[in-house]
Amino acid sequence: MRFENTLDFAKKLDNEDKLASYKNEFIFPKVNGKEVIYFTGNSLGLQPRSAKKYVDEVMEDWANLAVEGHFYAEKPWWDYHERFSAKLGKVVGGKPSEITVMNTLTVNLHLLMATFYKPEGKRFKIICEEKAFPSDQYMIASQVKFHGYTEDVAVVKVEKRENEHHFRTEDILAKIEEVGDECALVLIGGVNYYSGQVLDMETITKAGHSIGAKVGWDLAHAAGNIELKLHDWGVDFAAWCSYKYMNSGPGNASGCFINEKYHDKKDITRLEGWWGHNKKRRFLMEPEFQPEPNAHAWQISNAPILAMAPYLASLEMFDEVGMPALIEKRNRIVAYLEFILHEIDKEVDASFEIITPSKQEERGTQLSVFLHGEGKELFNFLMENGVITDWREPNVIRLAPAPFYCSFQDMYNFGQILKKGILKN
Ligand SMILES: *Cc1c(COP(=O)(O)O)cnc(C)c1O
Repeated sequence: MRFENTLDFAKKLDNEDKLASYKNEFIFPKVNGKEVIYFTGNSLGLQPRSAKKYVDEVMEDWANLAVEGHFYAEKPWWDYHERFSAKLGKVVGGKPSEITVMNTLTVNLHLLMATFYKPEGKRFKIICEEKAFPSDQYMIASQVKFHGYTEDVAVVKVEKRENEHHFRTEDILAKIEEVGDECALVLIGGVNYYSGQVLDMETITKAGHSIGAKVGWDLAHAAGNIELKLHDWGVDFAAWCSYKYMNSGPGNASGCFINEKYHDKKDITRLEGWWGHNKKRRFLMEPEFQPEPNAHAWQISNAPILAMAPYLASLEMFDEVGMPALIEKRNRIVAYLEFILHEIDKEVDASFEIITPSKQEERGTQLSVFLHGEGKELFNFLMENGVITDWREPNVIRLAPAPFYCSFQDMYNFGQILKKGILKN
């Protein structure tokens, strides 16, 4: 399609957009009395209007039923976490039995490593990406130290080539090959948080398995953003936070995928608690742990119902729309944003460099833009004028037009504000 950088054209795209009405299902902050253009759904998704109802329902059940709410609430608390499995399975490509919701992301990755990082003999290394999200770096370093290794020996980082912004699949595969039977685990971010690059998870998972390692994925920037087929790809485990593209609210509960081939393994090591115990016998308070026959066996404590309620509200919307429709709009709106950036660049003779891959299959919702010659004043100007982006040193802004609630007119209007901000300097 040939795009145009005009308000009329942006309106035409909005008229053709089957998801356009969903913008009204979210609550936008305001700047100068006007709803903002929100580009940070990759950091904290907006609040769905339905979230409050789900939370209020729990508050009322707690008030009216107190402890009885565990069994007699409209959505009983004792198995509330099970409500997520089938719908989330569709979002990430897992069977319902392979999905559970619990804790928060970094905590879950630690718990999953208790099962899947089993260093032994010469096989003790973890392969990850260089400059991984800080929490992942700390987590991986602390895991190898926990097992008595030093980080410089046990953590192997795949690097980008000089002057390149993306990881090359061939370099990741070569590193996996090189570490070979010393590699216990490959654990990488499926969508890079900084550049927005989508990795070839299927190929990398196969390569990890071919050398006898386990393969897990941090899907913080992938869940609710790109197509995932965790089961078909044979991924061992994965976890994601839900407050980014999945709009569940600040610091909210995380989702986990655990491949079904591990569910009935008798000798599996796992950090256990009563919420993972056979649900029918959980309240018999028996001394011996009997795991649930599915991913819920990894649950530990009784579930944080208030935190899960808005996640459930949001997940219902994902289920209603489905990932294919979200991805179709995503592709179009991201392409339009990219076009607008190039147009404004020509008009003001800036030199933006989009460091996100230009190929659709290698990116999701996010475009990361290197603003050569611009400083943080531009970012501040955008914020003051109702464009919420985020800033990453040295001078990268990340723009993620979430397909649920961003419009094509937002993209056009953003371009005009950006132009003003650059000309002002
Ligand atoms: C956002 C993000 C996290 C955040 O971890 P929490 O445990 O939820 O605070 C971790 N890893 C990656 C790759 C992220 O993008």
